[in-house]
Amino acid sequence: MKKTDWDKRIQRAVELAQRYPSAAEVLAFYRHILEFQKTLCADVVSRSLPAAGVKAAFREQLDLDIAIRQLPALLALVQRTGPAKLAHEAAEIGRASSEQQGEMLRSFLLSTNSNEPELNHFFARVLFQPQAEHLAATQQTQSADSSASVCPVCGARPLVAVLRPEGDGGKRFLVCSFCSTEWEFRRILCPVCGEQDHKKLPRYSVEDIPSVRVEACDTCKYYLKSVDMTIDGLAVPVVDEVATAALDVWAIDHGFHKISPNLMGF
Ligand SMILES: [Zn+2]
Ligand SMILES: [Zn+2]
Repeated sequence: MKKTDWDKRIQRAVELAQRYPSAAEVLAFYRHILEFQKTLCADVVSRSLPAAGVKAAFREQLDLDIAIRQLPALLALVQRTGPAKLAHEAAEIGRASSEQQGEMLRSFLLSTNSNEPELNHFFARVLFQPQAEHLAATQQTQSADSSASVCPVCGARPLVAVLRPEGDGGKRFLVCSFCSTEWEFRRILCPVCGEQDHKKLPRYSVEDIPSVRVEACDTCKYYLKSVDMTIDGLAVPVVDEVATAALDVWAIDHGFHKISPNLMGF
């Protein structure tokens, strides 16, 4: 992960807030979070991480102490700029003992290896994600398995799909919900249950958001969104995903569940 990727995300959040006024509020908060994560990223880069090739589970290599030290600044930021429910949660965590705070962050590292769709551990995700991205960038990319339903680097579920220009069409990748690694994935295949019948894999888009669509599965009832960079080459998938909640409303109204909620909780 290049450092400038944080700047690209921040810039994109500003642009999309203008393009999609209904998403302006959530994007304004997301921008605060991205700016905070960018500062964490600088902190992570300056520290030495375990050498590549160490055979520890990915999450065990993340530094809990760094996250514990960074938590108070995040709680203050969320109380200042976050939505009411999250701000309230931040205040409650702030009143907890430092042992309880450490336990909350530790439980995130322990719990998310399961195959269940991941809960939105907002505070832990914000704090660990820059570390995870940095660690993922130092690891050898595994040989491509274009039907792997979880991240080949850290084992988390995908957040969003992305179609990147390739020849006359596009190649589909999945983006990890935790470490942001992208891995190639077959076009007609459900990442949850492996359904391959295109008649059971409904796609949904709306006219005013041509580059993002819902990719759902009638067999397991899960969905994720897909960002088509052959249509909008300036898209930043994780940010475009947050900006298009209107599509999530459609999917949920039609009985689908999201594979992984985004950082903003939907
Ligand atoms: Zn990952
Ligand atoms: Zn499925």
